Amino acid sequence: MKGLIDSHIHLDDERFDYDRKELIKLAQLAGINRFIVPAVSVNRFPAVLALAKEYDAVAYTLGLHPYYINQHSATDLEFLAQSLQDSGAIGIGECGLDFHLKDLDKDKQKLIFEAQVILAKHFNLPLVLHVRGAVDEVFQVLKTHNYFKAVMHSFNGSIEQAKQIINQGVYLGFGPAACSPQAHKLKKLVEYLPIENIMLETDAPDQPFYDRYGKRNLPVDLLRVNQDIAAIKGVEPETMAIQTTANVKQLFNL
Ligand SMILES: [Zn+2]
Repeated sequence: MKGLIDSHIHLDDERFDYDRKELIKLAQLAGINRFIVPAVSVNRFPAVLALAKEYDAVAYTLGLHPYYINQHSATDLEFLAQSLQDSGAIGIGECGLDFHLKDLDKDKQKLIFEAQVILAKHFNLPLVLHVRGAVDEVFQVLKTHNYFKAVMHSFNGSIEQAKQIINQGVYLGFGPAACSPQAHKLKKLVEYLPIENIMLETDAPDQPFYDRYGKRNLPVDLLRVNQDIAAIKGVEPETMAIQTTANVKQLFNL
């Protein structure tokens, strides 16, 4: 396998601090030669930028993740806008809405998210979207701004929702969660989706495979994601790799 791109991996995570270099090398040896690393809050921007400087294989996006909604401020939005201007960011994110965790202020989430959609449109950059329990709400914001240059990472909506979303050209990202034998609904969804609309991700170190629960998910695991999703689709892993890589290149203008 060669030329795979991990469309969503948190390589800056401190859980990779002691063996990051080796893990990146091992993934590269397995044919994964590009990693898209989304920053999640302004205090992670320096680490992500440093990573891209150190590794040619790392591309990055900058954004304000809904998990950290209590930390984000208007100043952070301004800093994001400024950072987008003079950095090599290839997109905006990770941003979006998370209505799953009840203690995250929904109204503030909407404000911070919508501001990032406006920024993305202004800079003509793709959005890396985190969507949990809020597929319709996130899609509505995209529709309001008529801006669909985006990927919904680790998608977990219905086939009905997916239909409308891909019709607007938004990509859907899938990782280890879709590979679990218990994930019947997700598997049905992947079965239904054309591979032209799919991106692959590890979301490492989060979202470990069902059989490695509690451990880190690793950069090299994209290979397994590619294999498993290809099997669900009934296509050759090579075909899956080529198409999903083309999808990532298309959206992120790589
Ligand atoms: Zn993420």
